[in-house]
Amino acid sequence: MTVWDAVTGQAEAVAELQGASRAARSGPGGPGSGMTHAWLITGPAGSGRSIAARAFAAALVCRTPATVDGVEIPGCGHCNPCLTVLDGTAADVQVIGTEGTWIRIDTAREMVRVAGTAPVAGTWRIVIVEDADRFQDGTANVLLKTLEEPPPRTVFLLCAPSDSDVLPTVRSRCRTVRLRMPRAADVAAVLTEQGVDPALAAFTAQAAQGHIGRARRLATDADARGRRAEVLKLPIRLRSVGECLAAAADLVEATAQESAAAAQDRDSGERAELEELLTASREGSGGRRKAGGSQMRMRGAAGAVKELEAEQKRRARRSQFDALDRALQDLAGWYRDVLACQLGALNEAGAIHPDQSDMVARAARAWRPPETLRRLDAIMAARQLMIDLPSMTPLLAMEALTLQLRSG
Ligand SMILES: [Zn+2]
Repeated sequence: MTVWDAVTGQAEAVAELQGASRAARSGPGGPGSGMTHAWLITGPAGSGRSIAARAFAAALVCRTPATVDGVEIPGCGHCNPCLTVLDGTAADVQVIGTEGTWIRIDTAREMVRVAGTAPVAGTWRIVIVEDADRFQDGTANVLLKTLEEPPPRTVFLLCAPSDSDVLPTVRSRCRTVRLRMPRAADVAAVLTEQGVDPALAAFTAQAAQGHIGRARRLATDADARGRRAEVLKLPIRLRSVGECLAAAADLVEATAQESAAAAQDRDSGERAELEELLTASREGSGGRRKAGGSQMRMRGAAGAVKELEAEQKRRARRSQFDALDRALQDLAGWYRDVLACQLGALNEAGAIHPDQSDMVARAARAWRPPETLRRLDAIMAARQLMIDLPSMTPLLAMEALTLQLRSG
């Protein structure tokens, strides 16, 4: 088992990254020909971009490369550097994720500062940016100079859905590695290996359309399966305007619940941690400082709590956006099954939602292909609209969509 085993169904990308990590180890005092300082790893959501980035990071710091069929594979998966990268505690590996909508400028500045420091434990200082598509223009500018002339021992691993999601000025400074959506069979195999019942794994891998995180969620969380089933009942409900508006409200409510459930544990844990930290710092200095200093610290504490709450609010918004987008992908898959059925191609193409075959067949008989296609387009347009118009409320966007999906 090497770190690369977790990078599912990406033989070409893995070969390229392994080659680079070998090159990075070979030359004393400098990277070899296959290595470069800035990488852009692209692939659709669920293709495993950040998993690939972590595997590459582990391979760069690995102390005891594995040997497979006579070839050296850095990233053994069990030496101490590999393990610390995988569990997120490696001193030289900084992971910048964003659960807010944008990467903030102070985060970018901190990133540049860290990138400028020498590695403490190994040969490389590695900065992983999980959502490089979430740099705003001004924020990305902070990075450009460092990307252009990186410190000799620093490597940037930027992850994004596609090349075009990253600013051209950033993209042109990176070497791109493209991941593809893993096949459902590959995702099912991974889930089965992790102990999921094979039939359930096959079903959820298919229903998640190759998105491994989503497939795992569906396989292990009955509530998530229930919410998916509710969403897929929606198309046949949409006959009157009233039913469309009610369905839009249900959809928004269901995705709000899903994202709230995921956020709640983490948010309250963070708040408790922060309060504990602040209390400790107040008590630690109690009585020894002047009242003025203590008041200043109290204002600082209130500021910290406020900042955390603001961050949590941003994350909640992003998390609901993601849940809504997943629901729309499920719906798009349902209409795609209807279209395939209407064109007599369902057996050949395979159903995305095999458990919905009765409803799909019924809709396929009731509608004509151009109508199905129009509805599929409406869903894709709604997904794009939510990205282009972030100020639009989810309810308004969903009402506009369900009215277009109406069949009546
Ligand atoms: Zn290792």
